[in-house]
Amino acid sequence: MAVQVFDFGISLFEHLFDPKKRLFIGYLIAALGIAFFWLLISKKLTIRLALRKIFDRKVFFSTSSRADFKVFLINRAFTLFISPLLLTQLVVATFIFNLLLKVDWGTWSFALAPSKAVVVASFTFCVFVLDDFTKYIVHRWMHKWPLLWSLHKVHHSASHLTPITIYRTHPLEGILFSLRSAFTQGISIAVFFYLFGNQVDLFTVLGANVLVFVFNVAGSNLRHSHIGIQYWRWLEYILISPAQHQLHHSIATEHYDKNFGATLALWDWLFGSLHHSIETEGLALGVEDDTSEAAHGLYALYVLPLVEMANYLTKKTKELKAAIWRVAHRLRWRAKPGLKNRIKSSS
Ligand SMILES: [Zn+2]
Ligand SMILES: [Zn+2]
Repeated sequence: MAVQVFDFGISLFEHLFDPKKRLFIGYLIAALGIAFFWLLISKKLTIRLALRKIFDRKVFFSTSSRADFKVFLINRAFTLFISPLLLTQLVVATFIFNLLLKVDWGTWSFALAPSKAVVVASFTFCVFVLDDFTKYIVHRWMHKWPLLWSLHKVHHSASHLTPITIYRTHPLEGILFSLRSAFTQGISIAVFFYLFGNQVDLFTVLGANVLVFVFNVAGSNLRHSHIGIQYWRWLEYILISPAQHQLHHSIATEHYDKNFGATLALWDWLFGSLHHSIETEGLALGVEDDTSEAAHGLYALYVLPLVEMANYLTKKTKELKAAIWRVAHRLRWRAKPGLKNRIKSSS
């Protein structure tokens, strides 16, 4: 037991001191600096007012934010327990790599010999882009498919956003995203190793993919915050601004199913879900059908999604049974005249 408690403590500690994690202290300080200067320069606030705005007690001590913190702690404990059972990128990579070795490409030749720098740069870029694209796809599914929306609603039930809100997710959504990551990274690793062998490497800064590092230093944590930084209109076609993600959390129906992108807004632009940012001051956040205090309770965050999923599956099973019964009934009626004819001709 003592070992588990120690591991749990380490895993919490890691979040603040590992540059591969979103809540790395360096990224939080960078976000703080960006928010501070944006309020000073763009919003013309005084230093005192800017600091008061950033450290708004109404946001950080809200029922919603306290629930975020509880979910963060519970989910870390759950991850510690479940992660040894999950599929890793190494398993996926090994499987696909072995599959590629068995394929007979015929006259096709992959005799590419780019320099190590080109291989490392393309691998770093491809991993980042593919990872971001699959995040977009899975996030879109989470909104469009009622079964997954029951889970994703947990993230959207937050009525205030803080950097910890990114971890306000149902554990099943966490598993789904971890599988997505294993597949995406596993496929990239296998294909690149197959093509370029030992030349493959990731361009990292403090152990993190350089592009992820840059994105995080550029204030990724402000997407889940009350600081509504807007980018230039042209840039919001390429990168998701903090205000664009805050709009994704808006309760207003005109903002539903907009801005699914994690880092790149390109996917939203390409697939018609882009919405440019608006002034987010006073924007109501949450889920329309549940804005009560109960939405931040452990029952709503952990159990209710499972109940809703079970209800949905029961309803769909009933509909499927009814559809099968209708088809079978129609076939029986059609089969009857044929049967009659056969009886007549044999007599
Ligand atoms: Zn969402
Ligand atoms: Zn969010």
